[in-house]
Amino acid sequence: MMHPPIALILPSRTAARRSCLCLAAFIAASVLSSAVDARQGVPSARDAFDVRATRVQGFDSTSVYMLVGAGANIAVQIGDEGVVVVDTGLAAAGDAVLAAIRRLTDKPIKYIINTHAHPDHVGGNAVLVKASGGQRTDAGPAAELRQNPNGVIVVAHQHTIDRMLGPRRGDAVYPEYAVARSSFITEDKQLHVNGEAIELWWRASAHTDADVLVYFRRSDVIVGGDLVQPASFPHFDVQEGGRLQGIINGLNHVIDLAVPQFNQSGGTRIIPGHGWLCTESDVVELRDMATIARDRVQYLIDKTFTLAQVQAARPLADFAPVYGVGEAERATDAFVKAVYSDLQKPWDGSGPVAGSGLNFIDGGH
Ligand SMILES: [Zn+2]
Repeated sequence: MMHPPIALILPSRTAARRSCLCLAAFIAASVLSSAVDARQGVPSARDAFDVRATRVQGFDSTSVYMLVGAGANIAVQIGDEGVVVVDTGLAAAGDAVLAAIRRLTDKPIKYIINTHAHPDHVGGNAVLVKASGGQRTDAGPAAELRQNPNGVIVVAHQHTIDRMLGPRRGDAVYPEYAVARSSFITEDKQLHVNGEAIELWWRASAHTDADVLVYFRRSDVIVGGDLVQPASFPHFDVQEGGRLQGIINGLNHVIDLAVPQFNQSGGTRIIPGHGWLCTESDVVELRDMATIARDRVQYLIDKTFTLAQVQAARPLADFAPVYGVGEAERATDAFVKAVYSDLQKPWDGSGPVAGSGLNFIDGGH
């Protein structure tokens, strides 16, 4: 199948930045308060979602696509065995996501992987599971497998399952059939589908405490979830166990995995939770900003500045026009407040994944 060049179909950096304003604003708000009314998603008509796909990378008859327009970005791997979907967008976009996948292939959906439990990443599960004839487990009773041998397997970290079955007040309530039955509580999980290894790494205490990085090894594509958002200050959901240091560690993990082709460009592609398709250089830029932000706020904390004094000192004024989504000053103030509060808490080192053999750069927070 012929595809237009990525530049023609993906939103520009400016457009991508604009398109995630609402989401960034509500996540920022949720960091600061318990208001969760916006988390139900965008109240648009189903046909308002214009979900578009572009091929990212692949090999032989296997391709990985990035779908945009469903709330959060979605990754879709298609090969001879079927389809693997990473995150499913907003509930209201479910039909549009399914239609976008069906425009690419009529093969069955074999796996759905959720990077975390936020509604713009798991909302479409229900539509995709239903369209697949239900869910089967890879470790369930034999009878269930016999009943539905072609069903989809939904995979997520156990924390994501817990969140979806016991959502915070005001959050979406999910039917049980849409919640993953294949869970893991270990540091990683491995699948082999469509001729390539798919590795899942749990990044504890990052955007939430359930973040999973998904690495399509042979296609050389990493799905970062909301741990990677190139167009805004890092979002760490305090109520769901998110920490800034965990995000920095997670970004270092992605940088460790990514191999650029030339000058930190090309090579490994990273599909972020929101925003444009990234290469290593985008993630390095993001990691550097997050690290500098952490160190500047920490410097002022060490000088016993109060929050009001830190905000008045405007330690992130240079980043505000680039990463302060929406009202830049307000967004930056909110981020500084979140960082200030986060740095008061000791870092227990739960960010890095032990035993992975990877060399992380961890701060002392
Ligand atoms: Zn999220």
